Amino acid sequence: MKEIVCKLLVIGAGPGGYICAIRAGQLGIDTVIVEAVKAGGTCLNIGCIPSKALIHAAEEFEKVSHMAAAKSPLGISVETPKLDLAKTIAWKDGIVGRLNSGVLGLLRKARVKIVHGRAKFRDGKTVEVETETGTQVIRAETIVIATGSEPVELPFLPFGGPVISSTEALSLKTVPQKLVVVGGGYIGLELGTAFAKLGSKVTVVEATSQILPQYDAELVKPVAKRLADLGIRVLTGAKAKGLSGNTLLIETAEGAEEQLAADKILVTVGRKPRTEGWGLDELDLDRAGKFLRIDDRCRTSMRGVHAIGDITGEPMLAHRAMAQGEMVAEIVAGKKRTWDKRCIPAVCFTDPEIVTAGLSPDEARAQGYEIRVGQFPFSANGRAMTMLSEDGFVRIVARADSNLVLGIQAVGSGVSELSSAFALAIEMGARLEDIAATIHAHPTRSEGFQEAALKALGHALHI
Ligand SMILES: Cc1cc2nc3c(=O)[nH]c(=O)nc-3n(C[C@H](O)[C@H](O)[C@H](O)COP(=O)(O)OP(=O)(O)OC[C@H]3O[C@@H](n4cnc5c(N)ncnc54)[C@H](O)[C@@H]3O)c2cc1C
Repeated sequence: MKEIVCKLLVIGAGPGGYICAIRAGQLGIDTVIVEAVKAGGTCLNIGCIPSKALIHAAEEFEKVSHMAAAKSPLGISVETPKLDLAKTIAWKDGIVGRLNSGVLGLLRKARVKIVHGRAKFRDGKTVEVETETGTQVIRAETIVIATGSEPVELPFLPFGGPVISSTEALSLKTVPQKLVVVGGGYIGLELGTAFAKLGSKVTVVEATSQILPQYDAELVKPVAKRLADLGIRVLTGAKAKGLSGNTLLIETAEGAEEQLAADKILVTVGRKPRTEGWGLDELDLDRAGKFLRIDDRCRTSMRGVHAIGDITGEPMLAHRAMAQGEMVAEIVAGKKRTWDKRCIPAVCFTDPEIVTAGLSPDEARAQGYEIRVGQFPFSANGRAMTMLSEDGFVRIVARADSNLVLGIQAVGSGVSELSSAFALAIEMGARLEDIAATIHAHPTRSEGFQEAALKALGHALHI
């Protein structure tokens, strides 16, 4: 097969890689992208998109079930709903398929050459790809590594049989009667909550003393309350120890042994960078722990080799990967770009949702800031009342001396859609007065954002 020579080679067509390749193509760079599985990567095929589809279906089913149990105060009643999970999964696969073709179409439109197969490094300028029609050698001036991450497997709970990762959980054809989730981070809780709403009896086993350990207790409280309302058993400080048939053995926080019978055991204890088995070791790039070390231009320790996305570390989020991809394409095109983002918003699509952007009060204090904090509860927000979802709040953290906004957090139903307003405020260097003086449409949850700013300034109007 004839060797391909190009200016830019992107390895991996996840959100980091495909955005990098599209932007490079737009800038007229001769670009090739290699993908081993499916364009769109983890996010589009087995992550963000399918999980949000399942979460939405579960929410709808739970709403109707609630009405069928005559628990709705809205005066709506329905007959007992039924669920055909295989049909739900087929609908989810349809969305994934549409987006997948969309990404391929965008790559073609940007004149990016797509090579299907697994890339293996020969050296820092050359890879070989095992394609369906033979080995394709690609030589490039610049290479971008965007190979993402994969689920961490516990040695005593290897994937297979009843033990599944998020990938299998997103393609189950029947709802497991009993589901044990090992790991109470965002992926485990998003999926655990969805299956509880679909009818599974769910138990979450979390080794640390709190679910969602990376968030502060105040933000997690409404989520913990809802898990309890849904009948989900949460065991914090508990450690999975091993498997006997379909029974998970755990050690509880009190040191007692317990056996949890399960149809499926979903292990979501983290994700690790995809660095092994494709010649990356031979390049001997500097590492930051298990991840590739990069600088503020996503350059690795080897000239001409960049890395973006999950392989470069936390936060392992699709929008971080995309922003890095776009930046690297512009750098390759000769533009002056460095990573100058003030914040990377993060959303937990739990029930209720959690959004964080910038610094929490504790993080701000730890960085030596004197701060003022304004918090506004959704129980005082008209829109939240009309939607029967008053749990949660918006919180703003600002410098006490200048009112410069350092961080914004929220927990509540639908707050994911506020994440862009939060990030924009921080990126533009907003002060509390800017948010307080901006007219927020009524009645919306976003008024809680304005009220939190007013509260921090000492004159909230609706509380
Ligand atoms: C269940 C779940 C839910 C998630 N939900 C969210 C969410 O709501 N929001 C969010 O921001 N993030 C979410 N994430 C995380 C998000 O999916 C990742 O942060 C994102 O996909 C990382 O993008 P990436 O481009 O770095 O890598 P990936 O998306 O992992 O893509 C890497 C690509 O490289 C390919 N590849 C690997 N090795 C090779 C090779 N040698 N040759 C060729 N191709 C190769 C892979 O096949 C893959 O397609 C979720 C993840 C999971 C698992």
